[in-house]
Amino acid sequence: MAVEKPQSTTPAAAPAPKKAAAPKVNVVTIPSAITVREFAELLKVEPVEVIKQLMRNGIMATINQAIDFRTASAIAPAFGFVAREAPAAAAAAPSKVKQVGKLTVRAPIVTIMGHVDHGKTSLLDAIRQSNVVATEAGAITQHIGAYQVEVDGRKITFLDTPGHEAFTAMRARGARVTDIAVIVVAADDGVQPQTIEAIDHARAAGVSLVVALNKIDKPNANPEKVKRQLGELGLNLEEWGGDVICVPVSAKKKTGIKDLLENILLVADIMELKANANRPAEGTVVEAELDKSKGPTVTVLVQTGTLKVGDIMVAGNTWGKIRAMFDDLGRSIKQAEPATPAVVLGMKDVPAAGDNFRVVESEKDARAIIDKQQAEKQAAVKPVTLTNLFAQAATGEIKELNIILKTDVQGSIEPIKTSLDKLSTGKIKVKVIRAATGSITEGDVLLALASRGIIIGFNSQPEPGARAMADKEGVSIRTYNIIYDIIDDVTKALEGMLEPEYAEVVEGMAEVRATFPGRNKTRIAGCYVKEGRGSRDAQVRIIRGGKVIRESRVSSLRRFKDDVREVTQGMECGVGVEDFNDFEVGDFIQFYRRQKVS
Ligand code: GDP
Repeated sequence: MAVEKPQSTTPAAAPAPKKAAAPKVNVVTIPSAITVREFAELLKVEPVEVIKQLMRNGIMATINQAIDFRTASAIAPAFGFVAREAPAAAAAAPSKVKQVGKLTVRAPIVTIMGHVDHGKTSLLDAIRQSNVVATEAGAITQHIGAYQVEVDGRKITFLDTPGHEAFTAMRARGARVTDIAVIVVAADDGVQPQTIEAIDHARAAGVSLVVALNKIDKPNANPEKVKRQLGELGLNLEEWGGDVICVPVSAKKKTGIKDLLENILLVADIMELKANANRPAEGTVVEAELDKSKGPTVTVLVQTGTLKVGDIMVAGNTWGKIRAMFDDLGRSIKQAEPATPAVVLGMKDVPAAGDNFRVVESEKDARAIIDKQQAEKQAAVKPVTLTNLFAQAATGEIKELNIILKTDVQGSIEPIKTSLDKLSTGKIKVKVIRAATGSITEGDVLLALASRGIIIGFNSQPEPGARAMADKEGVSIRTYNIIYDIIDDVTKALEGMLEPEYAEVVEGMAEVRATFPGRNKTRIAGCYVKEGRGSRDAQVRIIRGGKVIRESRVSSLRRFKDDVREVTQGMECGVGVEDFNDFEVGDFIQFYRRQKVS
């Protein structure tokens, strides 16, 4: 759509932040739906500016996501534009400017999730084998990371890396590929921890759910019990008047597969999935590897536009000219339409799964875009922490506090969740997107990252890998052992009063080898510093038989007769501890301090 010349001198509906000096009104004509990138191009601003403006209006959208006319028109004034909706015919009319053309129905993109051994892989295989296209002479299904099947003349695309981990990892990279998640539950085993996890992850991503009740052939299958369990998780099944369809299947006996596929199409119809095939392609990298003879082989899923051999494509931080393309049956293809997976040859390097790709006009454009992306990355959204929550809410950057709650026992979940739910204010909605028992896992960190949430542990600690990942990605983990403290901290954060977070840093450890009297009837521990160091202003823990028997502070630190500020490994010293005089030989003193987390 062309940007029209100024038509009036009426000021824009809202002041343009950067263009306030020249209150000129431009009219921009947009169709009923437009991707963020296309919209930014029309407004002649960087996509990241549009994303930020959307965030200020409480809408989280990625660069390739479509927004409707109402949303686009609401933020257009902030850039000095007034939006006008294109009549349907005009939207489809050819134009020299990049077209936002007619949207046509596209295939749904489906991910299969569920507990281990419930039959995700078997179901993906059974669905693939049900495919009439795959049985064509000479066609052999290839594993390329995604495949398409045809039912009643309509296509469905399956991502064939099952499980919510891969799904959320892609999401954390900004990829929004999946429309529908099929939750596989074995009818003989029922809802298990990873079933719940998968449902939580799918819900947090806002995708539609369909339940496949698998292993229905087993003599001990108990579908009614599983449905009850799903109901208890808040899944509103269709047969009870809800909107979640539950289809009994057997991946082994290959029964119910067509029924499942038809129901997926039904859900897709309700979602009205559409894309514009008539424009340069954009989409997501699903899988990529370096083939010794072919070079980088990249499986992409086209989400809008049509990808063609000869196109110049940027994917993640690399680019290339498409030399050849193949479909999921290994057949050479010339082009790939929306929702079609294709293997692309010709990239200079291997992009990562979850990277966006887009077709550009020239090699020069490709290089320029890669440079610009680096800058965009630096301007990327800050992770949410309880400390910066208020500031982010004040600027309108966040409207929801997504919390992942992990507790030691099931009984703690409900009271904490209920109390947290009640804390929502007019500005921020507090939302527990996942609550479960057990330690804090890498999966939880990924979910927090993908949902811009924080993790709260109640008598639950992060696993080492999860802690390292959270530190690297800037995901906030807070652990508590008093419910009141959780509520108090979140309340303070919502009011903008929370002190910065502190992390504990252990300085060193000393062993008590003798005890002797100090001033004012105190006792001093004669110590040997076994590792690290100990400072005069540190906090200490007295450890006896592996158990912490007291936490306090250093009250005196001496070497021979001198007060010192610090002792280091291998030194002998005298340590006095505030309010503690009961040292025993063999005790350990751990020195630590709490440091403000930047
Ligand atoms: P995944 O871990 O969820 O991918 O599960 P798999 O697809 O590997 O299946 C786990 C086990 O369940 C395998 O031994 C399968 O043969 C078996 N299985 C899968 N689907 C069915 C089914 O419909 N009926 C029966 N009886 N067994 C099944």
